[in-house]
Amino acid sequence: MLIRDGSASARRLLRKEIGGLPVYDPGADPDEVMREHGLRKVIKLSNNENPYGMSPAAIGAVQKCIKQGLGRYPDPTGKNLLDILAMRYGIKPDRIVLGNGSEEILQLLCQAFVSLGDRVVTQAPCFGLHEIFPLVMGAKLVKVPLGIDFKYNIEEWRKALAVPTKLVFISNPSNPVGTAFSRSELESIIQFCPEDCLLVIDEAYFEYAVHEDGYPDAFQLLKMQNRPWIVLRTFSKAYGLAGLRVGYGIASCSDLIEPLHCVRAPYNVNQLAQVAAVAALEDKEHLVRSIYLVGSERIRLTKMLRKEGYRVAPSLANFLFIDTMVDASFIMDKLLCKGVIVKAWREKGYGNFIRVSISIPEENEFFLQAFTSIKLSL
Ligand SMILES: *Cc1c(COP(=O)(O)O)cnc(C)c1O
Repeated sequence: MLIRDGSASARRLLRKEIGGLPVYDPGADPDEVMREHGLRKVIKLSNNENPYGMSPAAIGAVQKCIKQGLGRYPDPTGKNLLDILAMRYGIKPDRIVLGNGSEEILQLLCQAFVSLGDRVVTQAPCFGLHEIFPLVMGAKLVKVPLGIDFKYNIEEWRKALAVPTKLVFISNPSNPVGTAFSRSELESIIQFCPEDCLLVIDEAYFEYAVHEDGYPDAFQLLKMQNRPWIVLRTFSKAYGLAGLRVGYGIASCSDLIEPLHCVRAPYNVNQLAQVAAVAALEDKEHLVRSIYLVGSERIRLTKMLRKEGYRVAPSLANFLFIDTMVDASFIMDKLLCKGVIVKAWREKGYGNFIRVSISIPEENEFFLQAFTSIKLSL
């Protein structure tokens, strides 16, 4: 029977840039995995969340806020949080933008600055949204591949940036690899990057990496540069507020921030996220503890996996990028059956890799056992 629901016309309404775009892959849902495989316990190692959750101070702030009621719109400017961040960075608040997660800021940047046909450069393998959001605008996306042994290929970056480019997305540390550009490598890229190009450094894992040898703090590196740049940070990862959605961007000048206010929705950061972020910033103890515990597990797990013969990228973040030496989707499915959710990488050239978030020791051990037992049964 012919269904008359207007779907043929609906499809014709679609912008041609959107047709054929991939949907961002968030990984499997724990409840669904539990139901599907009849499991009592499922461990989620697919989204790089903080296994210790949000800070007790932030939980307290959220509870207080709920008690006071949420019947009114939140502060559309997020002034309280903005002022605290501005003070921390020693800049005026008009150089900071808040987002419903830093992901939203990636989207706003593309909406405000990327036109049809503009060239956008990012790395490969890359964070999905660094690719999807430019493509939504009809950008021409160029990816600079990693060299051998997870090393950056600076000569490839020089070539990629020698062509007129509108915007550069770099995640440092890299998601999914976990490695980071060294100070001198990042300096080279800044130098190659044309002055009429917006350089975006996404530091979602900054807090995990900042105390590691040779990791460059992009804000410190860029603040003396006379060029357009924006550094993105988030409360979703080390701060453990992923479920509340709040991140921020610090720009070289307020002229980069003002247009973002035109494209963003007025109440993009909800009230609970605002108060939780303020409280989380002040709770140093929870942050330091999370970073320390995850960092020592990162070292332990890397060592164990390498001992088993796996190639593991040297990570500065809260996850590991592991060469399974077989099809990663196969490994991912096997792990799902055992109650472990990881992310299989699907980008060309990386189809054998899984990305695994570091969790509490007990869960990491469970993963390790499950993963190595698959190899034995192959
Ligand atoms: C997790 C992640 C983000 C998303 O952060 P939100 O603040 O939760 O939106 C952004 N960029 C990279 C590279 C990430 O890995």
